[in-house]
Amino acid sequence: GKLGIALVGLGGYATGQLAPALLHTNDCYLAAIVTGTPSKIPVWQDQYHISDKNIYDYSNFDRIKDNKDVDIVYVVLPNNMHAEFTIRAAQAGKHVICEKPMAITVSDCDRMIEACKKANVSLSIGYRLHFEPYNKEMMRCGREKLYGAIQQLSGGFGFKAGPNQWRLTQKYAGGGPLMDLGIYVVQALCYTAGMLPVSVAAQEGTKTDPERFKEVEQSLTWQFEFPGGLIGKGESSYEDHFNYIRAEADKGVFELTSAYNYNGQRGNTPAGNMSFAQVNQQILQMDAFARSVKNRQASIVPGGMGRRDVIYLQAIYEAMRSGKKIRI
Ligand code: NAD
Repeated sequence: GKLGIALVGLGGYATGQLAPALLHTNDCYLAAIVTGTPSKIPVWQDQYHISDKNIYDYSNFDRIKDNKDVDIVYVVLPNNMHAEFTIRAAQAGKHVICEKPMAITVSDCDRMIEACKKANVSLSIGYRLHFEPYNKEMMRCGREKLYGAIQQLSGGFGFKAGPNQWRLTQKYAGGGPLMDLGIYVVQALCYTAGMLPVSVAAQEGTKTDPERFKEVEQSLTWQFEFPGGLIGKGESSYEDHFNYIRAEADKGVFELTSAYNYNGQRGNTPAGNMSFAQVNQQILQMDAFARSVKNRQASIVPGGMGRRDVIYLQAIYEAMRSGKKIRI
C-alpha cells in the first residue's frame, strides 16, 4: 500500500507543489498535516480529505509517534527549523524528508543524521532535480565523460526576492541567496563535474539595495577547485535573474539554459537539443523515497549529501568573508 506522509509547515512550497503532487503519487499519499495556523486546517481537510486525528500543531507534533497512518514526515519549514523537526520526527520513529538546505550549521546536520541513525529511520533531502531528466542528462554527460573532459564549468541561479520574508534574515535562513538558490548551483557543479571540490574562493556582490539586504548577501560569486584543477564558477543573486549550468568539454558544450525550476528545463549537447518529456519532479522524488523506504534502501539524496552541501555553503561564506581560498 501507499505510505502516509505528514507535511510539516504549510507554506508556499507545501501548498503550491508538494500537496498537489501527493494527489498523483503511487507509493505515498498525504495522510497528515502539521501547522501552527488553525485557519489552514479546514481548507486543507476539505481539499485533501485529512481526518481529524491526523492534524497536529508544533507543540503536540510528538504524538505523531502513535499514529500508524504516518510513515514519513516531510519538513517544509524555514531553514533554521529543519533540525528540530527532523530530530523530533526521527524520535517519533518516522522516516524523514527534509527540505534544502538541510540545516544552517554542520553541527545541526550531524545531530539530524545521528537521530535518524539511532531511531533506525531513513533521511532524505528535498533535492528534486535528481529526478529531473535534463539534470540527469547533465550528470550522465559529466560522469561518463561523453564529450571528453570538461575544461570550463559554470552555473548560476538568481531571481528577485521580495522584501519582508524569513529568507532575508540570517536567523531563519542562515544566509542569503546562496542558502536558497546557490545550493542548486553547488549541486549542479558537483554532479556535472562528477567530482567534489577541494577548495573554494568567493566574493560578495555589491548591495544595490542595502535596506532589503541588511542581514544577508544580495549576491555572490564563488569558484570551486576540483581535483585535477578544473574550476567550477558559481553565482547566485536575490536581485538578478539567471538560471543555467554550462560545461565546455573537449568535444563541445553541454548545458542547461533553463536548469533549476519546477518545469521548463531546456538544454543542449554537441549532439543537439535535449528533448525529454516534462515530468513532475515532486511526484518522482516522493515516490522514489517511499519505494526506498519500502525496499529498505538508502535514499539517493540522503542526509549525508545534505550535510556535504552545508559544509560547502559554510566554506563559501568563510571564503567570502575572509577573502581567502578555503580548503574543504
Ligand atoms: P514559506 O515562507 O512559504 O513557508 C514557511 C512555512 O513555515 C509557513 O507555513 C510558515 O507559517 C511556517 N512557519 C513556522 N514557523 C515559522 C516562523 N517562525 N517563521 C516563518 N515561518 C514559519 O516558505 P517555503 O517557500 O514553503 O519554504 C519552506 C522550506 O522549503 C525552505 O527550507 C525552503 O528552502 C524549502 N523550499 C524548497 C523548494 C524546492 O524546490 N525544493 C522550493 C521552495 C522552498
